[in-house]
Amino acid sequence: MKYVIIGGVAGGATAAARLRRLDEKCEIVLIEKGQHISYANCGLPYYIGGVIADRDRLFVQTPAAFSKRFNIDVRTETEALCIDTKLKTVTVSNGVRGMYTESYDKLLLAPGALPVRPQLPGIGLDGIFTLRNVADTDRIKAFMEGHPGRKAVIVGGGFIGLEMAENLVHAGWTVSVVEMAPQVLAPIDYSMASFVHQELTSHGVELHLEKAVKSFENAGGSIGVNLSDGQTLVADMVLLSIGVRPNTKLAEVAGLKLGKRGISVNEYMQTSNPDVYAVGDAVEFVHPLTAEPWLSLLAGPANRQARVAADNIVKGNSESYEGSIGTAVAKVFGLTIATAGLPAKQLKQRGIAYASSTTTSASHAGYYPGSFPLTTKLTFDPHTGRLYGAQCVGHDGADKRIDQLALIIKHGGTVRDVMAIEQAYAPPFSSAKDPIAIAGYVAGNIINGSMPVVYWRELRDADRQKLTLIDVRTKEEFALGAIDGAINIPLDDIRDRIGEIPHDKPIVVYCAVGLRGYLAQRILLGRGYSHVRNLSGGYKLYSSATRPIVTVKSYKPEMASPEKPSTILRLDACGLSCPGPIIKLKQTVDSMSPGSSVEVTATDPGFPRDARAWCESTGNSFVSASEADGLQKVVVRKGSGVPTGQPALAPQRNKTLIMFSDDLDRAIATFVLANGAAATGTKVSIFFTFWGLNVIKKEHKPRVRKDFFGRMFSWMLPSSSRKLHLSQMSFCGLGDRLMRFIMRRKGIEQLEDLRQAAMDAGVEFIACQMTMDMMGIAKEELLDGVTVGGVATYMQRAEQANVNLFI
Ligand SMILES: Cc1cc2nc3c(=O)[nH]c(=O)nc-3n(C[C@H](O)[C@H](O)[C@H](O)COP(=O)(O)OP(=O)(O)OC[C@H]3O[C@@H](n4cnc5c(N)ncnc54)[C@H](O)[C@@H]3O)c2cc1C
Repeated sequence: MKYVIIGGVAGGATAAARLRRLDEKCEIVLIEKGQHISYANCGLPYYIGGVIADRDRLFVQTPAAFSKRFNIDVRTETEALCIDTKLKTVTVSNGVRGMYTESYDKLLLAPGALPVRPQLPGIGLDGIFTLRNVADTDRIKAFMEGHPGRKAVIVGGGFIGLEMAENLVHAGWTVSVVEMAPQVLAPIDYSMASFVHQELTSHGVELHLEKAVKSFENAGGSIGVNLSDGQTLVADMVLLSIGVRPNTKLAEVAGLKLGKRGISVNEYMQTSNPDVYAVGDAVEFVHPLTAEPWLSLLAGPANRQARVAADNIVKGNSESYEGSIGTAVAKVFGLTIATAGLPAKQLKQRGIAYASSTTTSASHAGYYPGSFPLTTKLTFDPHTGRLYGAQCVGHDGADKRIDQLALIIKHGGTVRDVMAIEQAYAPPFSSAKDPIAIAGYVAGNIINGSMPVVYWRELRDADRQKLTLIDVRTKEEFALGAIDGAINIPLDDIRDRIGEIPHDKPIVVYCAVGLRGYLAQRILLGRGYSHVRNLSGGYKLYSSATRPIVTVKSYKPEMASPEKPSTILRLDACGLSCPGPIIKLKQTVDSMSPGSSVEVTATDPGFPRDARAWCESTGNSFVSASEADGLQKVVVRKGSGVPTGQPALAPQRNKTLIMFSDDLDRAIATFVLANGAAATGTKVSIFFTFWGLNVIKKEHKPRVRKDFFGRMFSWMLPSSSRKLHLSQMSFCGLGDRLMRFIMRRKGIEQLEDLRQAAMDAGVEFIACQMTMDMMGIAKEELLDGVTVGGVATYMQRAEQANVNLFI
C-alpha cells in the first residue's frame, strides 16, 4: 500500500505517524510546501514576543528525524499542484526535482487554512504581515529587529490577534487592536469579553472596536491605517489577523465535493472520493450541537481527525469522528479565557431558547495563597437544563474547568451533571464547592424557578422608574460605585428595613457577584414580594459590561513604588474578592499614622480601581499600582485629614446639562463644558432630548425595525454627529465643513473626539426615553454607554447639582 499525505504539520504529520504505527510495511510519502514539518504554529506568537527564546524549540520534529523514526519519505519544499483522482496521482513541484507525478493508493489532504488578506488599498506596503507559519514568523521577527520598540496595529481581535498583542507588548511595542465587532474574541459573549477589554487596556493596548480598516497609506515611512470612522492610526508594523479560510483549492480542482465552508467529509473523514480522506482546518464537519456545517480551526480537532482518518485508511471505515464543539483556551496577559459549545449570542442568532447563569467564585480555597476570582458563564436549555455552552475567564483555573464542562456539553449532559460532577479537592487546587459546582447550582436554581434573574443588558435598558433597584452590598461597597438609581439596603439589614421596600413595583436586587442578591431575593419572596429578580453575575459583571473602554496610556509593566521599603506596611489580601481587600485596607489605614504607607497585595483584578476610588473618597493618597502574573500590588499613603468614609465630592457640586439642540457649535460647546467640569473631579450628566439625540447617534448603526413615523424621522433628521450644521452661517453645509477644517488646523479637537473624551472622563450620557419613543429611535442606534432615562432621572441628577444648563 502506498499512502500520500499533502500537508505536513498538525493533521498531516499526526496522520503519517499513526499510519506507520498501524502498518509497518506500507510506503508513506509526506509532501509539504514549506521548509518545516510538525512544528508548533500555536507557539509562534510566543517566539515573536521573546517568551520562547530558542527558535529550535518550535520544531517538534525535523524532517530528517521524523523520516528516520517513522520510515517516511518526507519531501519538504514540495508543493502539490493537482490531483487526478481517476489515475490516482498527485502532480508535485520541487525546486530541485522539478515537476513530477506521484501515485497513491490512498491520499490524505491536510493543507490547513490560508490567512485572509483583503485587497484593501495600500495592502502591499512594507510592514504589513499575516502570521500562519514559520516563514511568516521569521519575516515578522526580522522586521521587528529592524524597528525595535515601535508601534504596531493588529487588525482583528481573535485569539491569535490578542496573543500577538500580548507578545508585542512583552517585546516593548505599543499596540492598538482594531476590531469590527463591538467586542474582541467572537466565540465568547460580550459580558465575558468585557473582562478581556479591561485586561488589554490596563496593559496599555488601545482598543478600536466597531471599526473597520478601509485602507493603508504611506505616512512618511510609517503606515497610516485608515479606519471607517475617519481616524488614522500610524504604525510601523501592521499584523492582519482577521481570520483564515480553509485551503480547498486542490480539492476543488480535483472535483471533490466542497461544503458551504470547507472540504466536505463524512464521519470517517472520507471525501466524496473513497480513496481520498481530508482532515484539519480545510474540512467542514457537522457540529454536534447545531447539526450545521462547522469549521473548528483548532489544533486538537486536527490531530483527532488525523488519527481517525489514518485508522479508517488502514482498517477500512470503522472509526467515526464525533465532531468538535470548539473547545478553546487562550492567555491574554494575566487572564485565561476558555470556551466550549455555544455562547448566548450564537444561540440567539439561531433562535434556540436558552437561559444563562454567570457566577464568580475563588479558583481555590480563598484562605490558601494564590486564589483568584474565576467567572463562569453557562448557557442551557431553560426547561430541560441541557448544557449548550460554557465560558470561563480568570487568572487561575479556567483551563481545567472548561475541560470538565466541555465533556458534559459534548456528551449531551445537563446542568444536573454539572452539579453532580465529582472533583478532587484540597485547598491549593479547589474548594469543597468547586466554581463549576456553584455554576451548576445557580443554573439549577434558575431552571427550577427559585432564582428568577435579570440579565445585565435587560437591566441596563430597563426603565428604572418602573422598578425598585436594591443594592444589598455593604455601605462601603456601595460608596465605591453602584448602579444608577439603586438604593442601598445591606443584606443583613434587609429584614429590619423591609418597610422601605414598596410592593407596587417589580424589584431587582443585586450584590457583588450574585450570592447575597440571591439570599436577599429569598427573604423578599418569603415575605410576600412577588416580582423579585436577582441580577445575574451581580455588580461585577454589570459594571464590567457597561464600563466605557479606556486605555491606560501610561502603562508600564512595573511601577516602582517611590516609598522606601522599610516604611511600608505589607498587607496580604489575596484570595479575597470585593469588598474584602478594601475592608482590610480601611482597617489597616485606620490604625496607621498620617504619612505612612501600606502596600496591599490582592488577587481581585478590580482592586486597584476600587482602591483608587476609595482613596479619592477618603482623603488618602493612591501612590502606585502594579500587576504581575495576576497579583495586584497597590501602595496607599494615609492622608493627613481624618478619613470620613464619605465620598469627597459633595453631591451638590455635580453639574447637569440638557442638550436640546443638535447644532454643531452648541454640541461642541456642551462637550467642552462637560470635559472641563469633569476634569475638576465633578460628576457631570448630560440629558439628550429632542434634537439633541442626533448628537449621540452612532455613525454605523445596526438595522432596526421602525414604524412609518420612525422611518420618516430617520429620513429627515441628521443620521449622526457628522451631519450636524452650525446654528449660524451654515450656508448649506459649507460653513460646517469650514468650521471643522479650522478646528483641525488649529489643533482643536473635533466634536467626536470631545464627545469620546467626555465619555472616557465618566460624563454620564442620558438619552430621553420619551423623545426616543416619539421619534422611533432605538437604543442600538445610540452610542454604547448611553443610559436611557426619563425626566425623573434627570431631575434626580439636577437635585444633586449646583449648575444646570439648558443648551
Ligand atoms: C499563530 C497560530 C497560533 C495558533 N494557536 C492555536 C492554539 O493555541 N490552539 C489551537 O487549538 N489552535 C491554534 N492554532 C490553529 C492550529 O494551528 C491549526 O488549527 C492546525 O495547525 C491545523 O492543522 P492542519 O494540519 O489542518 O493545518 P496546518 O497545521 O496549517 O498545516 C497545513 C500544511 O499544509 C501545507 N500545504 C498546504 N497546501 C499545500 C500543497 N498544495 N502542497 C504541499 N503542502 C501544502 C502548508 O504549507 C502547511 O504547512 C494556531 C494557528 C496559528 C497560525
